[in-house]
Amino acid sequence: MCGIVSYIGERKALPILLEGLSRLEYRGYDSAGIFICSSQENQLLKVAGKVKALQNAFDMQPDIQAEIGIGHSRWATHGQPNKINAHPHVSNNGQLVMVHNGIIENYEVLKSVLMSKGYTFKSDTDTEVLVNLIEDFQKEKEIPLEDAVPAALRQVVGAYGIVLFDQKEPDTLISARLGSPLVIGVGENEFFVTSDAAPFIEYTKEAVYLKEYELAIIQKNHPLKIRNIQNELSVDPYIEKLQWSLENIQKGGYDHFMLKEIYEQPNALRNTLRGRIDTKNSAVQINGVSAFEDKFISAKRIIIVGCGTSWHAGLVGEYLIELLARLPVEVEYASEFRYRNPIIDQNDIVIPISQSGETADTLAAIKIAREKGAFIFGISNVVGASIPGETDSGIYSHAGPEVGVASTKSFTTQVGVLMLLAIKIAQLKNRISPSESFALISELEEIPNLLQDFLENSASIKPIAEAYHEVSNCLY
Ligand code: GLU
Repeated sequence: MCGIVSYIGERKALPILLEGLSRLEYRGYDSAGIFICSSQENQLLKVAGKVKALQNAFDMQPDIQAEIGIGHSRWATHGQPNKINAHPHVSNNGQLVMVHNGIIENYEVLKSVLMSKGYTFKSDTDTEVLVNLIEDFQKEKEIPLEDAVPAALRQVVGAYGIVLFDQKEPDTLISARLGSPLVIGVGENEFFVTSDAAPFIEYTKEAVYLKEYELAIIQKNHPLKIRNIQNELSVDPYIEKLQWSLENIQKGGYDHFMLKEIYEQPNALRNTLRGRIDTKNSAVQINGVSAFEDKFISAKRIIIVGCGTSWHAGLVGEYLIELLARLPVEVEYASEFRYRNPIIDQNDIVIPISQSGETADTLAAIKIAREKGAFIFGISNVVGASIPGETDSGIYSHAGPEVGVASTKSFTTQVGVLMLLAIKIAQLKNRISPSESFALISELEEIPNLLQDFLENSASIKPIAEAYHEVSNCLY
């Protein structure tokens, strides 16, 4: 998840981008960047950290007149949250500038093909691969950008919401989406392309929500053009009149962030599973396990450590791993584990779980496990946090940022990761047959849809909640 804000029109772009990014910060906040284009000069500025740091960086130059620009606040999925990996990313010929929200699953294959053609990469992101793939189509096929973008996107497996700027065509933005949201605010001689409507609500209430596989060509003083990426047919833009207030929009129309995050569970789990299951071949692909298969095959025991919600997810993990992989699992509170001189050796795998990747007790537990020679496999949601840096290997849950204090989608995705891990270990240890694997993976793949159906038909829960919300405990 991340925040995208872009503008093309007759106002000064920079304040709109900076304010817009800070309104979208709940979507991602580990690094940020802006590209702006004016007749005098183009400028790209990126920072590690929050949008405030980007604001400070621009404070030095208050009078930037540019009327076109693209901005991004990142929630890293590929590569550390640092300045180099921050968006926008620029293609090898220096012409294309792009921001992206999502995950390009097949980026490694695409990257090696591009490298064999001489492309070089500065960042570790999947995004930089995509912007160069577009450049490659543009150059090789000698086609205009608006044709190169869909051609490149047809090669992509994964999710994207992108906004692209070609320095050779400074009056145009190109945007496309699949799986990540994008909305176009349509004003008088101006357009905004953003992750949700919060950045433009005070300028216009007219909005076109891009649908899956749609590509928009957005030009100053021209009507908006939309095409389908798969069949290239044009689509008539459907303009909606927004009724929402700013606060409403930031919470996606929900009364509370927690409620919003409950409803984000189906997509969060889809992101957890994306690229990691191959139902046809009954396969689970976890890169962090592939390099260490021997460790998982020979381990005598798994010890899961975590605090609060992560500890509870660990309890579910214990059931799953013991049931499927027949490997003994213990689940410990990190805060107790660190103080009680636990018996661990090099035959153990310690799995620290932490949403933030920064939980102090869990970090301390990792240190002890390392001293005692265990192999450490981390589960975290935040790319580049301390825990992923302290472990031997691991996996990200890709839940996106969680604002609500009570954990919802983080827990769901942690359990999703543990299910993947349980199946993978069971397969490595030959504890389940291919047909059992197939059944488990097919059912796992269905869970996001089941969650979605359940949440869409959740009206029947309300009276139950009303009846019982004040009870202090329940037994079931
Ligand atoms: N996959 C991209 C990255 O890691 C985009 C992440 C996002 O949606 O913020 O940079």
